[in-house]
Amino acid sequence: MKALAKLKPEPGMWQTTAPVPEIGPDDVLIKITHTAICGTDIHIYNWDDWAARTVPAPMITGHEFAGEIVAIGERVTRDLHIGQRVSGEGHIIDLNSAAARSGKFHLDPNTVGIGVNRQGAFAEFLTLPAFNVVPLPDRVPSELGAILDPFGNAVHTVQQTDMVGANVLVTGAGPIGIMAAAVARFIGARSVTLTDINPYRLNLARAFDGIRTVNVRTEDLMDVRQELGIAEGYDVALEMSGAGAAISQALEHLRMGGNLTLLGLPSGRSDILWADVILKAITIRGVYGREMFDTWRKMLGLIEAGFPLERIITHRLPVDRFDEGFEAMRAGQTGKVILDWTRG
Ligand code: ZN
Repeated sequence: MKALAKLKPEPGMWQTTAPVPEIGPDDVLIKITHTAICGTDIHIYNWDDWAARTVPAPMITGHEFAGEIVAIGERVTRDLHIGQRVSGEGHIIDLNSAAARSGKFHLDPNTVGIGVNRQGAFAEFLTLPAFNVVPLPDRVPSELGAILDPFGNAVHTVQQTDMVGANVLVTGAGPIGIMAAAVARFIGARSVTLTDINPYRLNLARAFDGIRTVNVRTEDLMDVRQELGIAEGYDVALEMSGAGAAISQALEHLRMGGNLTLLGLPSGRSDILWADVILKAITIRGVYGREMFDTWRKMLGLIEAGFPLERIITHRLPVDRFDEGFEAMRAGQTGKVILDWTRG
């Protein structure tokens, strides 16, 4: 089968051929129709320190996917059928940890990631435990199925605090930041302010309704607060950039008793003014992944309720043109990039 892989421990991604994976008794085999490129795939492409430490080469990459079930293992008891359109959770867990045993599957410390620690979804076929499979309703097209993984990060982050009537600050307008801002607004935030320094991404965010975008290089958040009537500060900040300066800015502009939810991953240490946290009685919460499978159910519900998720897709490419997608992503000039495996 055709696949995209990290073949050598150096920057790049290569098209290759690999054997169709065999399924175990608890697995299903999925014929991939659509995949999306994640920031994680860019780290692997660039072969940065994290990738070199984490990913064994050769490795078929990719974890954002949709496809159709073509085989079902003999022990699978879930109600799945051949030809069914599905996406799925790429974090594969076991059931031994305290977190997993208490039903918090997404907090299992023994998680193995497809496309990172074991064969990924950038291939014509993917084997996945039936437990991880998420069937797609008729009203959810497969290209949206391929971006449920990052949409899940966004929804899970937004879900941490009550958004109804809230003034929400989102720092970082990558695809997940934009989706989080749009969801916060869709579910009833009073105002949503989205900051970044990348004009392309701030412009992309305008595809969604009711987001006040701010380039913090050229505009002062204090002026924006005045414009939006946010005298005391934001109720909630969602940090989606991993930039130390953004964390500081969020703390500065939160109100007394506000909430800071962190998804963006800083690459090192950052300088936090802890007095801001203490004197404003801020609650800080780290977020990882998405809940299995509560977030998935909510995502599908949001799409079926009319959330215009497709607006985050900026590139649709046949898989053989994957290089163009990676290049555009590396240049910071994309929303989500879809690779279509039904077209060569
Ligand atoms: Zn991802």
